[in-house]
Amino acid sequence: MNVLLRGGSVVSGSGAVRADLWIRDETIHAVGLDLDCPDAETVDVSGKLLFPGFIDAHTHFDLDVCNTTTADDFYTGGRSALRGGTTTVIDFACPNKGESLQYGLELWHKKADGRCGCDYGFHMTIDDWNESIRAELPAMFEAGISSFKMYMTYPAMMIGDGPMFEALRELKRLGGIAGVHCENSGVIDALIAEKKAAGALGPASHPESRPAVLEAEAISRLLKMAALADTPVVIVHLSSEAGLREVEAARARGQTVYVETCPQYLYLDDSLYSLPDFEGGRYVCAPPLRKKSDQEALWQALASGGVQTVSTDHCSFTLAQKDAGRGDFTKIPGGLPGVETRGLLLYRGVAGGRIGLGQMCRVLAENPARLYGLYPRKGVLAPGSDADIVVYDPAADSVITAADQAANVDYAPFEGFRTSGSIASVWLRGRKVVDHGAILADRGGIYIPRGRSSL
Ligand code: MN
Repeated sequence: MNVLLRGGSVVSGSGAVRADLWIRDETIHAVGLDLDCPDAETVDVSGKLLFPGFIDAHTHFDLDVCNTTTADDFYTGGRSALRGGTTTVIDFACPNKGESLQYGLELWHKKADGRCGCDYGFHMTIDDWNESIRAELPAMFEAGISSFKMYMTYPAMMIGDGPMFEALRELKRLGGIAGVHCENSGVIDALIAEKKAAGALGPASHPESRPAVLEAEAISRLLKMAALADTPVVIVHLSSEAGLREVEAARARGQTVYVETCPQYLYLDDSLYSLPDFEGGRYVCAPPLRKKSDQEALWQALASGGVQTVSTDHCSFTLAQKDAGRGDFTKIPGGLPGVETRGLLLYRGVAGGRIGLGQMCRVLAENPARLYGLYPRKGVLAPGSDADIVVYDPAADSVITAADQAANVDYAPFEGFRTSGSIASVWLRGRKVVDHGAILADRGGIYIPRGRSSL
């Protein structure tokens, strides 16, 4: 591969500058104005923005959950990711309670290896805590896993405060970082029981049984445990203003807290759960969609740097799968597709003046690369970095529709949203893999072992 992308603007965390980009083999050879490389194939990208390939640090492909399996596996999910400009995903390897971390890692390699169009890494889920899990942790780092997921809700996965505290201490010692799903499990169970007793079994009961204050309570509790363990943590998929205020209070006390949010919490609200004919069921995810005021708080935090990453929590189900919860909202498999539309939705925020171009690049690429130990191989367009590139055409507006997506899902949460511009092409390690929506290569992704966080 010897390609010159000429005439575009290269985007980094500090904004866009006019520069040519010279790709040699799988990496970026040079970045600069008017590069002279006579042997290279020249591609005219004038008027386009060149982003580092987007990194989605929160996907669930091929996950057995809620008595079914997610609609997207690593093949369809990888295709969907590429089409959205995401060249690397970090999926959650998830052994069941009683299984070893090594078993979970091998299982996720079986799901992904040779089947995924984009590059990928794994977080490891810790849903059990005992001496043998503790003893396995160093081998996880050697296998390229430096981040771990823990749950404060869901009986199948939550580990409880004491074990979580011990795990945080051990991760501190080893130099790892934890991302935590923060919701108060016990109170949610009580509210669900109330809804069931009252016969309120439709999707509108979903957000009412998981109110924002229960996210805020869990965040507060986690952050006090993390302070005691003296370790930074990541609040994954932050959804609410109340939760954000707990993070801000902890930061004011001197704590390091990283925040991830998702496009659904920036653009969609809980009025959707009241749509007729079970249409609200398709928006069921946890934490649930919140209020417009929560969206506003999250946008402001994004703009000011209070949110470090925007990922998707892509966990997709078809409408037929969602139908399992007709008549009982607790049986609706929870999760939304999203890996395909994140870049478009964030650029919509740039075009609308909500966030800067540099901020978009930070939350989609640079920060997740640093936070999860991929930087500078990923997350930046600089000599020596992988040539993962999103060529964005800010002038080619489009509309998001289910008919135009690679995800293996028959609806789109952002159906009908107008975009500001669209993705012209996507490059993975020097190879063009998407051209104006057409997928050119969809099994070329490789496992990327990760180092320790550098954010
Ligand atoms: Mn998730």
